[in-house]
Amino acid sequence: MGYEIERFISEISDNLICKLCHKVYDNPKSLTSCDHIFCFSCIEKIVINENCCPLDHTLIESSCIEEAPPFILDYLSVMKIKCDFSEHGCRESVPLNRLLLHRLNCEFHPERKIKCTNCEVDVEKYRLSDHNCINLLKNKIDFLSDQINDLKNYYNNELSSLRCRLEN
Ligand SMILES: [Zn+2]
Ligand SMILES: [Zn+2]
Ligand SMILES: [Zn+2]
Ligand SMILES: [Zn+2]
Repeated sequence: MGYEIERFISEISDNLICKLCHKVYDNPKSLTSCDHIFCFSCIEKIVINENCCPLDHTLIESSCIEEAPPFILDYLSVMKIKCDFSEHGCRESVPLNRLLLHRLNCEFHPERKIKCTNCEVDVEKYRLSDHNCINLLKNKIDFLSDQINDLKNYYNNELSSLRCRLEN
C-alpha cells in the first residue's frame, strides 16, 4: 500500500502512482516481463496468488520482480511528505528518504516516552496525564530494593570467603 497523495506538498506525477492502490509508490518494484511498476506490498500478493500482471495479464513469477528504475527511486526519495504524526501536532515535511528517521525521532510520536516531572519515570507521552505516579514509584522501589538485596548477598558472600581465607 502506497503513501496517501494528500500527504505530499507538491503535485504528484502520474508516473509515481501505483495502479493497484492508487497511491504514491512505497518501495516500488518493476516487472521484468512487462515493465509495469507497483508497490512491493501491492504486487507481492498478486504474484503469489495469480501469477500474472493485473494490468496486461502477462505471466509473471517472483523472479520477474526487480528494483524500480533509478529515476523513479531518485524522484521519490526527494519528494517532501508530511510526517505520519501530523494529526498529533507535527508540522514537519521531510523528503521521503528521511521519513523513517524523522518518524523515529519525531517529538509528536504518540508512543514517545518522556520523563514525568513528578515521579521522574519515563512514560508514554499520551499516558502522561493519566498515569499513576504512586504506582510507578512503588514499582521502582521494588526494583531498587531487589537490586539492593542482590548486592547485599554478593558482598556477604565475598566477605565470608575473605574471612575464610584469613582464618586459614
Ligand atoms: Zn500500491
Ligand atoms: Zn504489466
Ligand atoms: Zn513528525
Ligand atoms: Zn509521574
